Amino acid sequence: MEYIAAALPAKKTIALIAHDNKKPDLLSWVAKHKALLEHHHLCGTGTTGGKVATALGLQVKQFLSGPLGGDQQIGSKIAEGKIDCLIFFWDPFTQMPHDPDVKALLRLAAVWNIPIACNSASADLIISSPLFNSPLERMIPNYDSYKNKREQL
Ligand code: PGA
Repeated sequence: MEYIAAALPAKKTIALIAHDNKKPDLLSWVAKHKALLEHHHLCGTGTTGGKVATALGLQVKQFLSGPLGGDQQIGSKIAEGKIDCLIFFWDPFTQMPHDPDVKALLRLAAVWNIPIACNSASADLIISSPLFNSPLERMIPNYDSYKNKREQL
C-alpha cells in the first residue's frame, strides 16, 4: 500500500457513539469538554447523538441508531474523508447483535488513520492535544495508485 499525506482540518467533524452501558460515561465526557467541542462539528449514532443534543444543548447530526446501520453510515463517512475523529465508547462486557458493524467501523477508522478513542482516558488525551484545534497531518492510503495497481491485475 502506498500512502499520501492528507491533513485533518482545524475544525473537525467528530463522531460520537456509545453503547447503552457506556452512554452515561460519554455524556459526562462531552459535558466536561463542551466548551471545546462546540467549536467543532458533531455527529453521532441516533440514540447517542440524540442524548448528547438533548442533555447538553449541542448541535449533533444524527445518523441511524447503531444496530440499525448507524455505525456503518459513520464508517462510510470516514471512508469518504468526512469524519475526522471518532469517540466510540464501546462496551467491553456485553455482546452486541451488531458486533460485525462495530468491527467494520473500527477497521475503517484504522484504514483512514483518524484519531479514535474507545474510553474516556484516551478521549481526554486526544482532546487535550494542541493538535485537536489545529490541522493534523496524517498519512492515508493513496487511492489512485491502489486503483491503478488493481486495474493491472
Ligand atoms: P445508538 O447506537 O447511539 O443508536 O445507541 C450506538 C451503537 O450501539 O452502536
